[in-house]
Amino acid sequence: MTFVTRFAPSPTGLLHRGHAFSALTAWTAAKAAGGRFLLRIEDTDFTRCRPAFEDAILDDLTWLGLDWEQPVRRQSGHRADYDAALDRLRDMGVLYRCFRTRKELMALAGMAPHAGDPADIHAFAGGRLSAEEEAKKLASGQPFAWRLSLAAARQRLGGFDRLTWVEETAAPGVRIATPGVLGDMVLGRKDIGAGYVIASVIDDALQGVTHVIRGEDLIETTSIQRVLQALLDLPTPVYRHHRLLLGPDGKRYAKRDGSVTLVALREAGVTAEELKGELGFQSAYA
Ligand code: GLU
Repeated sequence: MTFVTRFAPSPTGLLHRGHAFSALTAWTAAKAAGGRFLLRIEDTDFTRCRPAFEDAILDDLTWLGLDWEQPVRRQSGHRADYDAALDRLRDMGVLYRCFRTRKELMALAGMAPHAGDPADIHAFAGGRLSAEEEAKKLASGQPFAWRLSLAAARQRLGGFDRLTWVEETAAPGVRIATPGVLGDMVLGRKDIGAGYVIASVIDDALQGVTHVIRGEDLIETTSIQRVLQALLDLPTPVYRHHRLLLGPDGKRYAKRDGSVTLVALREAGVTAEELKGELGFQSAYA
Protein backbone atom coordinates (compact mmCIF):
# COMPACT_ATOMS: atom_id res chain seq x y z
CA MET A 1 0.00 0.00 0.00
CA THR A 2 1.38 3.40 -0.94
CA PHE A 3 2.11 5.63 2.03
CA VAL A 4 -0.03 8.79 1.80
CA THR A 5 0.19 11.64 4.26
CA ARG A 6 -0.76 15.28 4.37
CA PHE A 7 -0.24 18.67 5.95
CA ALA A 8 -3.61 20.28 6.61
CA PRO A 9 -3.32 23.84 7.86
CA SER A 10 -6.23 26.17 8.50
CA PRO A 11 -5.53 29.61 6.99
CA THR A 12 -6.51 31.50 10.12
CA GLY A 13 -3.07 33.00 10.65
CA LEU A 14 0.55 32.85 9.56
CA LEU A 15 2.53 29.64 9.94
CA HIS A 16 5.11 29.48 12.72
CA ARG A 17 8.04 27.21 13.60
CA GLY A 18 5.65 24.59 14.96
CA HIS A 19 3.89 24.36 11.62
CA ALA A 20 7.22 24.14 9.83
CA PHE A 21 8.16 21.22 12.09
CA SER A 22 4.84 19.52 11.38
CA ALA A 23 4.98 20.02 7.62
CA LEU A 24 8.63 18.86 7.50
CA THR A 25 7.82 15.79 9.62
CA ALA A 26 5.01 14.74 7.28
CA TRP A 27 6.89 15.56 4.07
CA THR A 28 10.06 13.77 5.19
CA ALA A 29 8.04 10.71 6.20
CA ALA A 30 6.41 10.62 2.76
CA LYS A 31 9.79 10.88 1.01
CA ALA A 32 11.36 8.25 3.25
CA ALA A 33 8.51 5.85 2.52
CA GLY A 34 8.54 6.58 -1.21
CA GLY A 35 5.00 7.78 -0.69
CA ARG A 36 2.79 10.74 -1.45
CA PHE A 37 2.52 14.08 0.32
CA LEU A 38 -0.65 16.17 0.07
CA LEU A 39 -1.40 19.70 1.11
CA ARG A 40 -4.96 20.37 2.20
CA ILE A 41 -6.35 23.77 3.07
CA GLU A 42 -8.86 23.42 5.89
CA ASP A 43 -10.83 26.59 5.37
CA THR A 44 -14.37 25.63 6.33
CA ASP A 45 -14.60 28.42 8.90
CA PHE A 46 -15.01 31.43 6.62
CA THR A 47 -15.38 33.69 9.65
CA ARG A 48 -11.72 33.10 10.54
CA CYS A 49 -9.93 32.06 7.34
CA ARG A 50 -8.35 34.62 4.98
CA PRO A 51 -7.06 34.15 1.41
CA ALA A 52 -3.95 36.17 2.34
CA PHE A 53 -3.06 33.54 4.97
CA GLU A 54 -3.50 30.81 2.40
CA ASP A 55 -1.12 32.60 0.02
CA ALA A 56 1.38 32.97 2.86
CA ILE A 57 1.11 29.23 3.63
CA LEU A 58 1.97 28.35 0.04
CA ASP A 59 4.91 30.80 0.06
CA ASP A 60 6.20 29.48 3.39
CA LEU A 61 6.08 25.84 2.34
CA THR A 62 7.76 26.64 -0.98
CA TRP A 63 10.45 28.55 0.92
CA LEU A 64 10.98 25.48 3.11
CA GLY A 65 11.63 23.50 -0.07
CA LEU A 66 8.58 21.25 0.16
CA ASP A 67 6.59 20.03 -2.79
CA TRP A 68 3.10 18.59 -2.89
CA GLU A 69 0.62 17.12 -5.33
CA GLN A 70 -1.75 19.24 -7.37
CA PRO A 71 -4.52 20.16 -7.21
CA VAL A 72 -4.51 21.27 -3.59
CA ARG A 73 -7.81 20.37 -1.95
CA ARG A 74 -9.58 23.36 -0.42
CA GLN A 75 -12.33 22.37 1.92
CA SER A 76 -14.36 25.50 1.16
CA GLY A 77 -15.02 24.00 -2.29
CA HIS A 78 -16.62 20.87 -0.83
CA ARG A 79 -18.95 22.24 1.80
CA ALA A 80 -21.95 20.33 0.50
CA ASP A 81 -20.19 16.98 1.08
CA TYR A 82 -19.37 17.80 4.70
CA ASP A 83 -22.85 19.17 5.33
CA ALA A 84 -24.30 15.95 3.89
CA ALA A 85 -22.28 13.98 6.45
CA LEU A 86 -23.53 16.28 9.19
CA ASP A 87 -27.10 15.63 7.97
CA ARG A 88 -26.43 11.90 8.07
CA LEU A 89 -25.28 12.12 11.66
CA ARG A 90 -28.27 14.24 12.56
CA ASP A 91 -30.59 11.70 10.96
CA MET A 92 -28.91 8.99 13.06
CA GLY A 93 -29.87 11.02 16.13
CA VAL A 94 -26.32 11.57 17.36
CA LEU A 95 -26.25 15.37 17.04
CA TYR A 96 -27.96 18.09 18.98
CA ARG A 97 -28.18 21.84 18.74
CA CYS A 98 -26.37 23.68 21.53
CA PHE A 99 -27.30 27.32 21.98
CA ARG A 100 -24.81 28.08 24.75
CA THR A 101 -22.09 30.51 23.72
CA ARG A 102 -18.44 29.96 24.48
CA LYS A 103 -18.66 32.76 27.02
CA GLU A 104 -21.56 31.05 28.79
CA LEU A 105 -19.72 27.73 28.81
CA MET A 106 -16.60 29.35 30.24
CA ALA A 107 -18.66 30.96 32.97
CA LEU A 108 -20.35 27.64 33.77
CA ALA A 109 -16.94 26.00 33.93
CA GLY A 110 -15.80 28.75 36.30
CA MET A 111 -13.12 29.94 33.91
CA ALA A 112 -12.07 33.42 32.89
CA PRO A 113 -13.54 34.36 29.49
CA HIS A 114 -10.11 34.54 27.84
CA ALA A 115 -8.47 31.50 29.40
CA GLY A 116 -7.06 29.62 26.39
CA ASP A 117 -9.38 27.07 24.89
CA PRO A 118 -9.93 24.49 27.59
CA ALA A 119 -11.45 21.28 26.39
CA ASP A 120 -13.49 20.89 29.55
CA ILE A 121 -16.01 23.52 28.55
CA HIS A 122 -17.71 20.97 26.33
CA ALA A 123 -18.80 19.18 29.47
CA PHE A 124 -21.11 22.13 30.06
CA ALA A 125 -22.86 21.94 26.69
CA GLY A 126 -25.96 20.79 28.51
CA GLY A 127 -27.26 18.14 26.14
CA ARG A 128 -30.36 18.16 24.03
CA LEU A 129 -33.08 20.69 24.78
CA SER A 130 -36.75 19.81 24.82
CA ALA A 131 -38.42 20.19 21.42
CA GLU A 132 -40.36 23.14 22.78
CA GLU A 133 -37.35 25.02 24.12
CA GLU A 134 -35.43 24.35 20.94
CA ALA A 135 -38.26 25.61 18.73
CA LYS A 136 -38.41 28.79 20.77
CA LYS A 137 -34.71 29.47 20.40
CA LEU A 138 -34.76 28.65 16.69
CA ALA A 139 -37.68 30.97 16.13
CA SER A 140 -35.80 33.79 17.83
CA GLY A 141 -32.93 33.26 15.37
CA GLN A 142 -30.35 32.35 18.03
CA PRO A 143 -27.06 30.96 16.72
CA PHE A 144 -26.22 27.39 17.66
CA ALA A 145 -23.58 24.71 17.31
CA TRP A 146 -24.16 21.10 16.28
CA ARG A 147 -22.62 18.91 18.94
CA LEU A 148 -21.96 15.19 18.83
CA SER A 149 -23.92 13.51 21.60
CA LEU A 150 -21.47 10.97 23.00
CA ALA A 151 -24.31 9.28 24.88
CA ALA A 152 -26.25 8.75 21.64
CA ALA A 153 -23.11 7.72 19.73
CA ARG A 154 -22.19 5.22 22.46
CA GLN A 155 -25.61 3.69 22.28
CA ARG A 156 -25.59 3.45 18.51
CA LEU A 157 -22.11 1.91 18.39
CA GLY A 158 -22.64 -0.35 21.39
CA GLY A 159 -19.83 1.34 23.33
CA PHE A 160 -16.44 2.73 22.35
CA ASP A 161 -14.21 -0.13 23.48
CA ARG A 162 -13.83 -1.59 20.03
CA LEU A 163 -12.82 1.74 18.51
CA THR A 164 -9.07 1.48 18.24
CA TRP A 165 -6.33 3.10 16.22
CA VAL A 166 -2.63 2.59 15.83
CA GLU A 167 -0.47 5.40 17.19
CA GLU A 168 3.10 5.25 15.91
CA THR A 169 4.72 8.24 17.59
CA ALA A 170 3.25 9.52 20.87
CA ALA A 171 3.39 6.48 23.20
CA PRO A 172 3.21 4.05 20.26
CA GLY A 173 0.73 1.25 20.35
CA VAL A 174 -2.89 0.42 19.86
CA ARG A 175 -5.08 3.09 21.39
CA ILE A 176 -8.69 2.78 22.42
CA ALA A 177 -10.84 5.83 21.77
CA THR A 178 -11.65 7.88 24.86
CA PRO A 179 -13.96 10.54 23.40
CA GLY A 180 -15.29 11.41 26.85
CA VAL A 181 -12.09 13.37 27.48
CA LEU A 182 -13.30 16.08 25.11
CA GLY A 183 -17.01 15.66 25.70
CA ASP A 184 -19.75 16.58 23.24
CA MET A 185 -17.61 18.30 20.67
CA VAL A 186 -18.83 20.87 18.16
CA LEU A 187 -19.02 19.41 14.64
CA GLY A 188 -20.78 22.26 12.91
CA ARG A 189 -22.35 25.64 13.39
CA LYS A 190 -25.42 27.41 12.16
CA ASP A 191 -23.30 29.95 10.25
CA ILE A 192 -20.53 27.81 8.70
CA GLY A 193 -22.15 24.38 8.55
CA ALA A 194 -19.80 21.42 9.11
CA GLY A 195 -16.43 22.28 10.66
CA TYR A 196 -12.92 20.90 10.25
CA VAL A 197 -13.19 17.97 12.68
CA ILE A 198 -15.66 16.21 10.41
CA ALA A 199 -14.28 17.63 7.14
CA SER A 200 -10.83 16.35 8.04
CA VAL A 201 -12.08 12.81 8.67
CA ILE A 202 -14.01 12.75 5.41
CA ASP A 203 -11.08 14.09 3.41
CA ASP A 204 -8.54 11.73 4.96
CA ALA A 205 -10.75 8.88 3.76
CA LEU A 206 -11.50 10.41 0.37
CA GLN A 207 -7.85 11.22 -0.32
CA GLY A 208 -6.69 7.77 0.75
CA VAL A 209 -4.52 9.11 3.57
CA THR A 210 -2.80 6.13 5.19
CA HIS A 211 -0.88 8.10 7.85
CA VAL A 212 -2.16 11.18 9.64
CA ILE A 213 0.91 13.06 10.87
CA ARG A 214 0.17 16.06 13.07
CA GLY A 215 0.87 17.65 16.43
CA GLU A 216 0.15 16.09 19.79
CA ASP A 217 -2.40 18.82 20.47
CA LEU A 218 -4.83 16.87 18.30
CA ILE A 219 -4.41 13.49 19.99
CA GLU A 220 -7.66 13.86 21.92
CA THR A 221 -9.53 14.95 18.82
CA THR A 222 -8.47 11.60 17.34
CA SER A 223 -10.87 9.83 19.71
CA ILE A 224 -13.75 11.93 18.41
CA GLN A 225 -12.63 11.39 14.82
CA ARG A 226 -12.43 7.64 15.48
CA VAL A 227 -16.08 7.76 16.61
CA LEU A 228 -16.99 9.65 13.43
CA GLN A 229 -15.19 7.05 11.32
CA ALA A 230 -17.27 4.34 12.97
CA LEU A 231 -20.53 6.24 12.53
CA LEU A 232 -19.84 7.17 8.90
CA ASP A 233 -18.23 3.84 7.88
CA LEU A 234 -14.89 5.41 7.04
CA PRO A 235 -11.48 3.74 7.26
CA THR A 236 -9.10 4.52 10.13
CA PRO A 237 -5.61 5.62 9.11
CA VAL A 238 -2.49 5.15 11.21
CA TYR A 239 -1.71 8.19 13.37
CA ARG A 240 1.59 9.82 14.24
CA HIS A 241 1.20 12.63 16.74
CA HIS A 242 4.52 14.39 17.03
CA ARG A 243 5.75 16.48 19.95
CA LEU A 244 4.94 20.19 19.98
CA LEU A 245 7.73 22.69 19.70
CA LEU A 246 8.07 24.99 22.65
CA GLY A 247 9.23 28.59 22.56
CA PRO A 248 11.90 30.04 24.86
CA ASP A 249 9.19 30.69 27.46
CA GLY A 250 8.37 26.98 27.56
CA LYS A 251 4.97 27.51 25.98
CA ARG A 252 3.87 26.13 22.65
CA TYR A 253 3.87 28.48 19.69
CA ALA A 254 0.56 30.11 18.90
CA LYS A 255 -0.68 31.74 15.73
CA ARG A 256 -1.28 34.96 17.61
CA ASP A 257 2.42 35.29 18.50
CA GLY A 258 3.68 37.15 15.43
CA SER A 259 7.37 37.05 16.32
CA VAL A 260 7.89 33.41 15.42
CA THR A 261 6.07 33.31 12.11
CA LEU A 262 8.00 31.95 9.16
CA VAL A 263 7.42 35.26 7.38
CA ALA A 264 9.09 37.11 10.28
CA LEU A 265 12.01 34.67 10.32
CA ARG A 266 12.48 35.12 6.60
CA GLU A 267 12.40 38.88 6.93
CA ALA A 268 14.97 38.66 9.71
CA GLY A 269 17.31 36.94 7.26
CA VAL A 270 16.98 33.36 8.56
CA THR A 271 17.44 30.90 5.70
CA ALA A 272 15.31 27.81 5.20
CA GLU A 273 18.45 25.70 5.63
CA GLU A 274 19.16 27.28 9.00
CA LEU A 275 15.61 26.74 10.20
CA LYS A 276 15.59 23.12 9.01
CA GLY A 277 18.89 22.52 10.75
CA GLU A 278 17.56 24.00 13.94
CA LEU A 279 14.44 21.83 13.74
CA GLY A 280 16.54 18.73 13.18
CA PHE A 281 15.86 18.15 9.50
CA GLN A 282 19.25 17.66 7.96
CA SER A 283 18.13 14.50 6.25
CA ALA A 284 18.74 13.46 2.70
CA TYR A 285 15.34 14.80 1.79
CA ALA A 286 14.82 18.20 3.39
N1 GLU B 1 -6.54 22.03 10.27
C1 GLU B 1 -6.04 21.62 11.54
C2 GLU B 1 -5.19 22.70 12.15
O1 GLU B 1 -4.72 23.57 11.44
C3 GLU B 1 -5.20 20.35 11.44
C4 GLU B 1 -6.02 19.16 11.29
C5 GLU B 1 -5.23 17.87 11.11
O2 GLU B 1 -4.01 17.88 10.84
O3 GLU B 1 -5.85 16.82 11.21
O4 GLU B 1 -5.01 22.69 13.35
